[in-house]
Amino acid sequence: MTVTFHDILFGETREDRPCGDCIACCQVLNIDEPELVKPQGTLCPNCTGTGCSIYETRPQVCRGWNCAWKRIPSMPPETRPDAMGVLFTVDRHLPPRNPFENLYIIAVAQEREEDLSSRDTQDVINMFKAAALPIFVQWQGMKTLVHPEPVLADAIMNPEGIKDWRLREQARQWLERYEPFARAGADDQVLLPQLG
Ligand code: SF4
Ligand code: SF4
Repeated sequence: MTVTFHDILFGETREDRPCGDCIACCQVLNIDEPELVKPQGTLCPNCTGTGCSIYETRPQVCRGWNCAWKRIPSMPPETRPDAMGVLFTVDRHLPPRNPFENLYIIAVAQEREEDLSSRDTQDVINMFKAAALPIFVQWQGMKTLVHPEPVLADAIMNPEGIKDWRLREQARQWLERYEPFARAGADDQVLLPQLG
């Protein structure tokens, strides 16, 4: 079995976490496979509204891809993407356009931007802050960095312009903690089915 970043960062898919009527990933995922092409943010033509009409023969990417909720036991039932309106996963942008895009956690709002500000979503974001990974939120295809917070993010991107030595040191330490993840994310031999 191929190991992906999802397996490494979030753990394996759990059989005791049923998707139920959730179809968030059938909308959110970008799929570009010989058997199915579907852009990010559009509902897959095989989706019935509550499940997959070709479940037994669905593409490999659908079989291997599972959101953070389906992998992390400490995420409660109300944080399943259809209940929360927000899907959490890990992603990367190759090539990265800034120091945070090598590997990051992302929260994608499906129908309402306000869902990114809900208590449940914020609790999950706070939980992920313990990991040395950047966190983005996404609404209608637009990504916004929410962790590290703006002052530190700016110091990480422009350390030479920062006069406060404490902030420069904080930025240096942040990059040091992130470096193994950034290196792993840049390795295109490691599989990570991407959002878009
Ligand atoms: S987003 Fe998660 S819970 Fe929802 S259908 Fe996909 S894997 Fe299942
Ligand atoms: S093929 Fe099935 S599982 Fe895959 S995106 Fe479409 S509806 Fe969802």
